[in-house]
Amino acid sequence: MTAARRQTVFAGLDQPQAWPPTPRALDPHRLERPLTELGGVGQAQAKRLAKLGLASVRDVLEHRPRRYETAADEVRIAALRHDDAEVVVVGEVLNVEKRPLRGRRTMVRARISDGSATISASWFNQPWLADQLTPGTRVRLRGKLGRFGFDVRSYDLGEAHATADFAPVYPAAEEIAAKTVRRVVDAALPFVLDVPDPLPAELRQREGLPLKRDALAAVHTPVSLDEAERGRQRLAFEELLVLQIGIARRAAERERTLAASLGEPGDLILRYRKALPFALTPYQEQAIRELDGDLARTVPMQRLLQGDVGSGKTVVALYALLRAVENGRQGALMAPTETLAEQHFLTIADLCLELGVTCALLTSSSPRRDRETAAQADVVVGTHALIQEGVELRDLAVAVVDEQHRFGVEQRAALLHGRAPHVLHMTATPIPRTLALTVYGDLAVSEIAKPPASRKPIVTRWLTEDRASEVYTRLTNLLREGRQAYVVCPMIEASETSLARAAEEEAERLRRAELREFRVGCLHGRLKPADRRDLMARFKARELDVLVATTVIEVGVDVPNATVMIVQEADRFGLAQLHQLRGRVGRGAEQSYCLLVSRAKEELTESAQARLQALCDTTDGFALAEVDLELRGGGALLGTRQSGISDLRFAHVVRDRELLERARAASREVGPGLLQEAVDELFAEVEPETLA
Ligand code: ADP
Ligand code: MG
Repeated sequence: MTAARRQTVFAGLDQPQAWPPTPRALDPHRLERPLTELGGVGQAQAKRLAKLGLASVRDVLEHRPRRYETAADEVRIAALRHDDAEVVVVGEVLNVEKRPLRGRRTMVRARISDGSATISASWFNQPWLADQLTPGTRVRLRGKLGRFGFDVRSYDLGEAHATADFAPVYPAAEEIAAKTVRRVVDAALPFVLDVPDPLPAELRQREGLPLKRDALAAVHTPVSLDEAERGRQRLAFEELLVLQIGIARRAAERERTLAASLGEPGDLILRYRKALPFALTPYQEQAIRELDGDLARTVPMQRLLQGDVGSGKTVVALYALLRAVENGRQGALMAPTETLAEQHFLTIADLCLELGVTCALLTSSSPRRDRETAAQADVVVGTHALIQEGVELRDLAVAVVDEQHRFGVEQRAALLHGRAPHVLHMTATPIPRTLALTVYGDLAVSEIAKPPASRKPIVTRWLTEDRASEVYTRLTNLLREGRQAYVVCPMIEASETSLARAAEEEAERLRRAELREFRVGCLHGRLKPADRRDLMARFKARELDVLVATTVIEVGVDVPNATVMIVQEADRFGLAQLHQLRGRVGRGAEQSYCLLVSRAKEELTESAQARLQALCDTTDGFALAEVDLELRGGGALLGTRQSGISDLRFAHVVRDRELLERARAASREVGPGLLQEAVDELFAEVEPETLA
């Protein structure tokens, strides 16, 4: 069937009617043509396609099908079973209704018949569908039988053909049907003949890879799933190769940059070790050894320190900063938010004082005149204000960047610009080794694999909103036993101000209702720093039982008696973020609980369900990071564009390990100049000179 589609697609050419075609002169310019030059694509449609990132013929050819359908996926309605995997139903709309749900959500339900039986299918939060699903409309629905009928995961409206074998299914967007995308791909496909292959023939042969042209044809019109996968691997290999070449180039550039060697640890470090109330764990010691090795060199350190929440990274960070100070130079610690910068400052200021090291906080709310003084301190803690214009750090030698994936590239690059300090990046989002290689191939990685003391695993439960009263009964019982709790408010796409308002309202509601016998505080990003510190101090001193909070508590807050966390509308949060939030409890000797409250399961996307389930299944940050990668791909985990990884279309950072190793090996062998254009494009945004 798809072989037939391939024939049809290519039949329009003044070219052989069969695949593969005979060679002809390439004309890569054709690949840059706008889609409006393709038959059947108008201005309006081109605009909608552009929203999917599809502007040129090339974009369309490189648009990856999400999966392939086969005739075997199609099921008669009468034969639907509850334990089926996702299936396809083809039928006709009998009638349709639109229903409002709580909280401005809507549900559209349509009765569908295919002659064998009827079923009601539901769509959530797509109200416009009610107008499109008029009686008599033919539909193809992909989904599963659920509690209220057929849960639609994806759909096509209009004439619904029988499922072709291995028919590609493209990611669709709100206003653009998968079917439309498929039609545009078909229109663009003949131009694969103009796609050159940038890989040297010798490399291709050695790796057993098809031509790029054939790989693209295979991905869009496979004759078998196997062929589609081979095509994908060819395209993935090239992507990974570009990434690895770029990483190698960046590493080489750094090797040519100069930094001051900080020699061997001295007296200040000895005193620091003595001042700590505990002995360092072997993991911390190991990280420190690795760091000392870097600091002794005249090449700027670029090291990633990774360790789960609470694993003890801060101690190592301060060590690095003090190495600068004992050389008469300066250390800076940069945090992604003001709250976190303050937390870090509070943590290390006392120790610094004890050691006779000056330490200052410098954020965007610091007055101008204070900034100048702060910039002179031995250790400066702050936000990105640290690297903004008008701040002249005295003599920066070591910079620690916390939670680097939250920083825009510009901010990181500016810190480095013209100064070449040694840099230690810290992250609590554990990154699987392969991903670290992919993204931070030029960073050395130190890992704190285990926290200092073994803690009781946090008991995590996922409950739906209809069981909210159960949640609060449980909470009330624990509070009566003297425990404290966090209630995290839903994270809607909104401003800091409206988040703050929502949190205040929720705190007020809880004070009047479920938590009326308790003392409830409210923590959010709109509080003045002094008020925030005061609130935290009162919570720590047990003058408050419950802290209703926005995600500002995500990082850094440390109150061991707080053993309960409730996350409202937990399905709106990302996996990494939920893991971070959960890390606020489980810090003391008592058993801790994390209760994730979500909307009804039917209303959740598959990936939201998978996220919440994964959190219940494990507290291991690494396992969760792997799940997150599986669900979202690497780009989303690390932040947009930062690493080039979000540009990976065909490669998968977790599954393509072997391919990655091959690309890495190949990147060391290929001569200079190969794929340079692609490398430049991918790394354009991380080159410091563009940001000066
Ligand atoms: P992270 O920054 O990795 O989340 P922290 O550095 O904040 O973790 O450490 C978490 C807690 O563990 C802190 O209260 C810290 O004082 C404590 N801690 C750090 N290292 C040790 C150690 N070697 N032994 C005992 N406690 C430690
Ligand atoms: Mg920390």
